[in-house]
Amino acid sequence: MNSSVSAPVTTHVRRLFVLLCGFEILPKTISTRDRGRRFILSEPVCAYLLDTVSGWVLLDAGLNPANGRDAARMQERFWRHGMTAPVIREMHLLEKQLAGLGVRFAEIGHVILSHLHYDHCGYLRHFTHARISVQRREHSHAFGAQAGMGYFRDEYDDPRLQWDLRDGDWQAMPGLRLLDTRGHTQGHQSAQIELPGSGSLILPFDAADLQENLDEEVLPGECCDDDDALRAIRRLKALARESNATTLLFHDPVAIQAMRLAPDSYR
Ligand SMILES: [Zn+2]
Repeated sequence: MNSSVSAPVTTHVRRLFVLLCGFEILPKTISTRDRGRRFILSEPVCAYLLDTVSGWVLLDAGLNPANGRDAARMQERFWRHGMTAPVIREMHLLEKQLAGLGVRFAEIGHVILSHLHYDHCGYLRHFTHARISVQRREHSHAFGAQAGMGYFRDEYDDPRLQWDLRDGDWQAMPGLRLLDTRGHTQGHQSAQIELPGSGSLILPFDAADLQENLDEEVLPGECCDDDDALRAIRRLKALARESNATTLLFHDPVAIQAMRLAPDSYR
């Protein structure tokens, strides 16, 4: 704990909406290294919409509905690898949820991506007008020949997209900071947000899918670097402690049930 009484933080972020974009049906080992091989979890996929003084900002870009609806695509991307396709219902569609908030794709001028796995960038094709911020390392890995199965190139390889490539920690605006949490992937980033009433929020994204990853420092199932991935988990825990923050988990099937989902918001 900081010994000084903390002064109110000047933040440009007014509200955060949690958009629930569907569910992935996965062996638990995808989230927790060597744990739960026999268990299948239904993990939420989220995106976060920020209402800020400089306009709407989207953190991660959802799950392409075709991944749960187009049989040929489901066969190609999931079934033939022995995987189950995501469950995406009408209420999970990003366009529906944004419409419910009175926000159009065209009004979102900035999209920030944690990384380029398919469950984080599924709506990018709707954001060719926007600035798309991602870590440079992530971008070059995703466009390289070594990108693994989680990278669906057709979700992000679009010449119309306006990439904004970043290196390490960076501040998008007062109250919105991106954190280098590489390890799950080459250029994974997490976010810390300050809200006027709720205080500090930490969004780990895939640096820690489940509460168990944080509590027991369990690595994600797949990492590009285990040491970096453990460092990322410890960094997020320390930051949450120091700033007395609430952590919003992206993939935790229990935590999601207690979250304020859009149209409700954190403010
Ligand atoms: Zn991922």
